[in-house]
Amino acid sequence: VRNLCLILGDQLNHDSLIWEDFDPALDEVLMIETVDESNQPPSNKQRTVLFISAMRHFSQELREKGFKVNYFTLRDRINSLNEGIDCVLATKTVSQIKMVLPGEKRVLDTLSLQIKGRQLSLQVLPDNHFMTEPGEFQHWLKDKKQPRMEYWYRYLRKKHNILINDFGKPEGEKWNFDASNRRPFGKKGPPTPGNHPDITPDNMTLEVIDEINTLIPDLPGSLNSFEWPVCRKQALSLLDSFISDRLPLFGDFQDAMWQQEPFLNHSWLSSSLNLKLLHPWEVIEAAIQAYKNGNAPLNAVEGFIRQILGWREYVRGLYWTYSQKWEQMNALEHHRDLPAFYWNGDTKMNCLRESISQVLEKGYGHHIQRLMVTGLFALLYGADPQQVHRWYLGMYVDAVAWVEVPNTLGMSQFADNGILASKPYIASGNYINRMSNYCEHCPYSPKVAHGENACPFTTLYWAFVADKQDILEGHPRLSMQVKHWYNKPEKERNEILKNREHLISTLSI
Ligand code: FAD
Ligand code: SF4
Repeated sequence: VRNLCLILGDQLNHDSLIWEDFDPALDEVLMIETVDESNQPPSNKQRTVLFISAMRHFSQELREKGFKVNYFTLRDRINSLNEGIDCVLATKTVSQIKMVLPGEKRVLDTLSLQIKGRQLSLQVLPDNHFMTEPGEFQHWLKDKKQPRMEYWYRYLRKKHNILINDFGKPEGEKWNFDASNRRPFGKKGPPTPGNHPDITPDNMTLEVIDEINTLIPDLPGSLNSFEWPVCRKQALSLLDSFISDRLPLFGDFQDAMWQQEPFLNHSWLSSSLNLKLLHPWEVIEAAIQAYKNGNAPLNAVEGFIRQILGWREYVRGLYWTYSQKWEQMNALEHHRDLPAFYWNGDTKMNCLRESISQVLEKGYGHHIQRLMVTGLFALLYGADPQQVHRWYLGMYVDAVAWVEVPNTLGMSQFADNGILASKPYIASGNYINRMSNYCEHCPYSPKVAHGENACPFTTLYWAFVADKQDILEGHPRLSMQVKHWYNKPEKERNEILKNREHLISTLSI
């Protein structure tokens, strides 16, 4: 074999550089379903089925093109990529192993070492799935005091001429319509039903569901339903339904949450993008087309494009720029174990019960559920950020290290001391109350910080403000909160701190 092309579960890209000089007469493909990948950290059943079914669909498509695919399934009980490579090398002579840059530094480092140890050459190709060229983020960062998403986003908008008018100005004369994108639903609830295309599991997916239930039944999560795209065709139909049904109000209600409504106006496209079933360009172009046709307003289209062109490319740039450091980050020195309810949703706090049950059922939470419910609680509670990171990496269908790590350790837990965002994202239960109807179904009261029906978010919020004054005082809006803390009577402050101790001792049992 001239090139043994290793394709990982999140590299299901028919336009990848690995196919450029692939010769079916000389080269072969290797794909491995490893047991380790499902167990380290424990991966939600939804996520496990998605990755494995998508890999099987992709390998079938490659075989249909006439490619020779060496494929190990879970039943082959291969523990690691290294073991899978060994199995091929035991029967074939291989000149070179080729792969696209993995989405996790650990995988790159381990494989490089192991392959070099065998005196084999390894060729690592850039990942052409992204809008950014290799090294481009680092080059852009050179003359910046601090990385900030907004400027990176403007740079990419200009470079790719996205929503730029004939005068070279941003469409609508503003780069960012975020201020009009933070509406709650109000008393009536979501204005449109959360349409979602009917993605029914085919026989291949049903087989994977059976296998997971039999071979690794102890994984977290449930498989009562499964509706994720596992191939490009299904991903395209999800994209179509988003653009026509949900995009028009995506901007307005991007941050809003609602009891028992998982879909809302979100795209649900992250897993299809991260598995590389879709290219960000085609998603962005579809949104621009909807704007040009008058089917979606500018605040929705700009808001959506900012997530993909801005945030997605930005966090990837940060992941690789700080790749040596993420695993040690714990700037706030938080060391508590993540409360047990993160694994089963068994808590009276309704916002957390809703968000966690939804993750267990569907492997999904939208951005604000991740940032301002599950992430916020872990931050205020003082959970060890590396544990929080492992939870996010295992639980969400779209979780791959390059995107999960900066979002969790940076944006959500501030473990990076402000590399990704200038301030910690903190709020009391009042924010959740404003942006959802969760509090109406909760025994606690978001406005109350101590006493029997105090909202744990509100108690922990004020205790966080009291503890972290040195960090908050450097930020204009958050320093106001420190003042508000000291404006409270001393007796109340003591009650809040007492309540915090009680909460922590009950939750850490
Ligand atoms: P939409 O709300 O429809 O947004 C459109 C697209 O924009 C998404 O599909 C996604 O590709 C992109 N996007 C939006 N926000 C971000 C962001 N902050 N970073 C990168 N891309 C973004 N996203 C992942 O893809 N994988 C993860 O493992 C992941 N972990 C996260 C962990 C935490 C703690 C937080 C706060 C956010 C995380 N995100 C992650 C970002 C974001 O929450 C998800 O991309 C989004 O909720 C996916 O749902 P959607 O496809 O319906 O997104
Ligand atoms: Fe969550 Fe507090 Fe609201 Fe209950 S009252 S749903 S715990 S924010």
